[in-house]
Amino acid sequence: MITLSGIEKRFDDNPVLKNINLTIKEGSVTALIGPSGSGKSTLLRCVNLLEVPQAGELTLGKEKLVFNGSGRASRKDVYRICQQTGMVFQSFQLFPHLRVIENITEGLVTVHKQPLKQARERAEELLAKVGLLHKRDAWPANLSGGQQQRVAIARALAPSPKVLLCDEPTSALDPELSLEVVAVLRQLAKEGMTMLMATHDLRLAANIAQQVVFLEAGEIVETGTSQDIFTRAQKARTKAFISTLT
Ligand code: ADP
Ligand code: MG
Repeated sequence: MITLSGIEKRFDDNPVLKNINLTIKEGSVTALIGPSGSGKSTLLRCVNLLEVPQAGELTLGKEKLVFNGSGRASRKDVYRICQQTGMVFQSFQLFPHLRVIENITEGLVTVHKQPLKQARERAEELLAKVGLLHKRDAWPANLSGGQQQRVAIARALAPSPKVLLCDEPTSALDPELSLEVVAVLRQLAKEGMTMLMATHDLRLAANIAQQVVFLEAGEIVETGTSQDIFTRAQKARTKAFISTLT
């Protein structure tokens, strides 16, 4: 479903991703772990072209892009790739001036040109799925962090992306509130949503991800099943990092 090969990303002269090779199977969940500054967010942002790599290839479903060194991509390519991805951020990033339901319908109507009635139906279906239909007319500021993140997940899913990218989806939440977000993500995983998520949350990574990737200083040190990485990591650097999480 998603293949990254030979991905290189630098900011000015600072190499942030080095020769990233990664395959994500359709319907599977991959967790990206690694210290702060290791390049997790940049890697996620390269998958939806919020950042454009200087080199390598990205395949997403039927779309394939070869990066040519410029660190730029055409509008058309960005649109092609972006359309197939949904993104959830650590800080939720709901539109504060829009009610919950409008946060979800806005993109469907303005970007995806759906009729308002259809967009509302889709939004209600997704709000029901994340357990927040009763908050459809609330303002984001009046929701808990866990509820805001569940709305953000519903918004990301609204255009039916092929992959959901999550950047530390539970890091801004208290443990109890993070549980309700983990439950929603676990349900999505069960339903076969393809996901790539950066996380410090061992429970999230170990419970949901089939594949775990340990990134350090812009390089993939080790990739394996969640069992492999959390119980029998091969590399000393991986073991050392895991021991800081537990
Ligand atoms: P992580 O998510 O693992 O904490 P990031 O991907 O955010 O790591 O950052 C990796 C490195 O890239 C850091 O050194 C960071 O300072 C640098 N970086 C990230 N985004 C930018 C940017 N837009 N401009 C310059 N440097 C950046
Ligand atoms: Mg990050």
